Amino acid sequence: MLTEMKPNQSIQNLEARIAHLKRQLQAQGPMRPGSLSRQYNVCGKSGCRCKDPKHPRRHGPYYQLNYVYRGKKTSKFIRREVLKQVQAELANYKRFRRLTEQWIGLALNLAQAKEKLAA
Ligand SMILES: [Zn+2]
Repeated sequence: MLTEMKPNQSIQNLEARIAHLKRQLQAQGPMRPGSLSRQYNVCGKSGCRCKDPKHPRRHGPYYQLNYVYRGKKTSKFIRREVLKQVQAELANYKRFRRLTEQWIGLALNLAQAKEKLAA
């Protein structure tokens, strides 16, 4: 697609798409990185349902959030009351990453188009 366009046109097109991405990023909601996992535990108390010899029912689900920030892995439990909110924040973070990834791609194309124009 890039090669079919005149360099000037493609530069304008790429700049317009970058401007659109910037507006989407501006509207970005609360976010946080990571992934959720669901866990079930055994408490170990004798006579508890989790230790039932026939039909053990473990405690849970508990939701655990794992993420890496600046090379440091962190893991924390998420309360059920805030689960929906955290899921929304995780989805927003994925969107943020997708948008910035697109921006980088467009920036590379734009640099290339400008080089062509100057050549
Ligand atoms: Zn138990």
